[in-house]
Amino acid sequence: MAAEKETLWINPDYGKAADLGLTRADLFDASARLDRFAPYMAVAFPETAKTGGILESPLRRLEAMQADVTKRDGYALPGDLYLKVDNELPISGSIKSRGGIYEVLKIAEQVAIDHKMLVYGDNYAKLNAPEFRDLFSHYGIAVGSTGNLGLSIGIVAAKLGFNTTVHMSSDAKQWKKDTLRSVGVNVVEYDGSFTTAITTGRALAAKDPSVFFIDDEGSKDLFLGYGVAAIRLQKQLRDQNIQVDEDHPLFVYLPAGVGGSPSGTTFGLKQILGKNVHAIFAEPTHVPSVLLGMATGMNNGISVYDIGLDGLTEADGLAVGRPSRLAGRVMKTLLLGITTFDDEQVMAYTAEMMDTEDIKLEPSAIAGFAAMAASQQYLSKHFNMPNATHIVWATGGMLVPESEHARNYKIGEALLKQSK
Ligand SMILES: *Cc1c(COP(=O)(O)O)cnc(C)c1O
Repeated sequence: MAAEKETLWINPDYGKAADLGLTRADLFDASARLDRFAPYMAVAFPETAKTGGILESPLRRLEAMQADVTKRDGYALPGDLYLKVDNELPISGSIKSRGGIYEVLKIAEQVAIDHKMLVYGDNYAKLNAPEFRDLFSHYGIAVGSTGNLGLSIGIVAAKLGFNTTVHMSSDAKQWKKDTLRSVGVNVVEYDGSFTTAITTGRALAAKDPSVFFIDDEGSKDLFLGYGVAAIRLQKQLRDQNIQVDEDHPLFVYLPAGVGGSPSGTTFGLKQILGKNVHAIFAEPTHVPSVLLGMATGMNNGISVYDIGLDGLTEADGLAVGRPSRLAGRVMKTLLLGITTFDDEQVMAYTAEMMDTEDIKLEPSAIAGFAAMAASQQYLSKHFNMPNATHIVWATGGMLVPESEHARNYKIGEALLKQSK
């Protein structure tokens, strides 16, 4: 890792028994809460009305990309490839709409119930009213973010009426800061890394009892919000006649930053789909924070800076040097493995995806393809592959400005030409 070499790590504890500290009941509790809030989301965010206020993304078959990418990367991919298009999730255009928004809603529900203004059986659309905005304006919500988590939390918390502060690292994109400021969020910028932003944000919030700090380095609620994806995916698989069993294993490839979104999703998948679903994470060679934490067993006790890495990557959503407290602990027995990739790879995939499928993703969001390429040789030796299903989890991109897509395309296209 210190040499910035691409690696594949297979988890020696995969499949062992463990007390996870989170249960399937927690997942259904989170799912029910999102259902209660659906009428609110539908009125407060009209773009979610067509799905009844439920934020979900399609599962899309990728035939052209499957043919192109396997030929270029030079490997066989038995089975079918799908893309989970979380880049189309409303509000943040990223996977963060799952965890971040869930935690904001949970806080809002608790505050409203404590003030006897809400009961569980109410139609939550009533929260979209001035008396609730007035109530929430007495409370703050704060978060540290590389960008997308801040977007999802900031937009929804500000809409509800909370005093909202997003602490952002210097590598967060300017357009994300601008978007947040335009909806009334207080954006605080830090010269240092994400770790500096989140540490300072947490310390400031701790001084004020009226402020809720949403902690990307260890929040169970964020984790469960991501996990609900599995309940929805199970139905999408059934609707598309995709079997998951011993002869039809399902492989899911997810990018990891702090590790919260891929770990929460994997936790959910294991609870709902069981032992025949297998997850592999992808991290930049310059920022293998979850891999470093899990392989050493030190989890959040070690950072990529400790082994001399610079933590810099084009995949800005993954530029997190220290893993979450929860990720490595819950993933200890649930995660099959982790691969690392060079930035050139994700830039090439980004262009290839536009060429073959006309889908625009941000570099962080496409890293699953690197995990897929790096793991097939191992998988072919250990699993029954002919009828496998592969899901690359695309984690963001819808709100990215056209100029940025064009820049990424240009860089990626040049790399594609070299590699073909
Ligand atoms: C945040 C993010 C990730 C990684 O999620 P973590 O919870 O930080 O591991 C991946 N892709 C995109 C686009 C993101 O915004």
